[in-house]
Amino acid sequence: SVFYRELPKVELHAHLNGSVSFQTMEKLMSRKPHLNIEHSMTAIGKGQRRTLDECFEVFKVIHKLVDTEEDILMVSKDVIREFAEDGVKYLELRSTPREEQRTAIHQCKSEGLDIDVRLLVAIDRRNGMEVAMETVKLAEEFMLSSDGLVVGIDLSGDPTVGHGKYFLPALERAKNCGLRLSLHLSEVQSQREESELLLNLPPDRIGHGTFLHPEMGGSQSLVDKVVKNSIPLELCLTSNIKGQTVPMFSLHHFKYWYQLGHPTVICTDDKGVFCTDLSQEYQLVASTFGLSQKEMWKLSQQAIDCIFAEDAVKQQLKKRWQELHPQVF
Ligand code: IMP
Repeated sequence: SVFYRELPKVELHAHLNGSVSFQTMEKLMSRKPHLNIEHSMTAIGKGQRRTLDECFEVFKVIHKLVDTEEDILMVSKDVIREFAEDGVKYLELRSTPREEQRTAIHQCKSEGLDIDVRLLVAIDRRNGMEVAMETVKLAEEFMLSSDGLVVGIDLSGDPTVGHGKYFLPALERAKNCGLRLSLHLSEVQSQREESELLLNLPPDRIGHGTFLHPEMGGSQSLVDKVVKNSIPLELCLTSNIKGQTVPMFSLHHFKYWYQLGHPTVICTDDKGVFCTDLSQEYQLVASTFGLSQKEMWKLSQQAIDCIFAEDAVKQQLKKRWQELHPQVF
């Protein structure tokens, strides 16, 4: 609806190559017809579901389509424009580090788009601990190059591959040099011990956290650690339903954490792959859990406190939200 499109929003959990829209895919496919890739191979449509394994196969197909510097630049610019058109005022994009992503952000800035974009450098679990360390070193260099775009590290990729303990040295190094940490935690049920370990860092935000709480096979001690450190959760409803880690919307763990009064941020994860956008995700939360527009406004406003950019940026965003606040509620 118009309300959710116009609602100013913060997007904190968006994987670049998972966010490629149908229109951009069309352009990529026409550049590479010999690959014989169709839309059904790069996106999961309405009502469709896949196993998490199948979702990771989709990313492999997308990576074949997005492989030149030119592709990365186009994809990054299109994704940023689309988030801006959807009313996102502040965006943290995550991806494995490439020069072209920063170029895209600078170009969008000079076009005058009304969106502040930052980068989280992604560690893909599949690539192991040595690549993770190299990735963190690169992120440090990016951070020190002083344009302020790189604000943190993401740990993601197939949760059934590898163990978090191997990534601890890289994550500790990142933390010590001032990079903030957003870690995918307990995305699948088998990760309880890993989450226990990684929560000791502690991370600055959690991606998904689907199986942290006792009702989902997690534990009270995991919940206590999250609550004690007040670590915000990035929650992506459509993604979790289509990837089948959550059986139905009404059972999504948003409810558990919201009722606790714990900070949660509504996000898209992969708006291209899951055929959604952030305003749809807000609307979905409102309709599933019966929240009013006023309560949804509050959720979008509270997300500002969870961003990784410096305090001055938070203050600017809070001012924007005040200016954009509707008269009627
Ligand atoms: P990229 O990092 O820009 O290439 O974005 C795609 C990558 O993000 C995938 O290959 C995965 O490693 C990661 N990713 C996307 N969605 C998820 C998710 O739901 N869980 C874990 N990793 C994810």
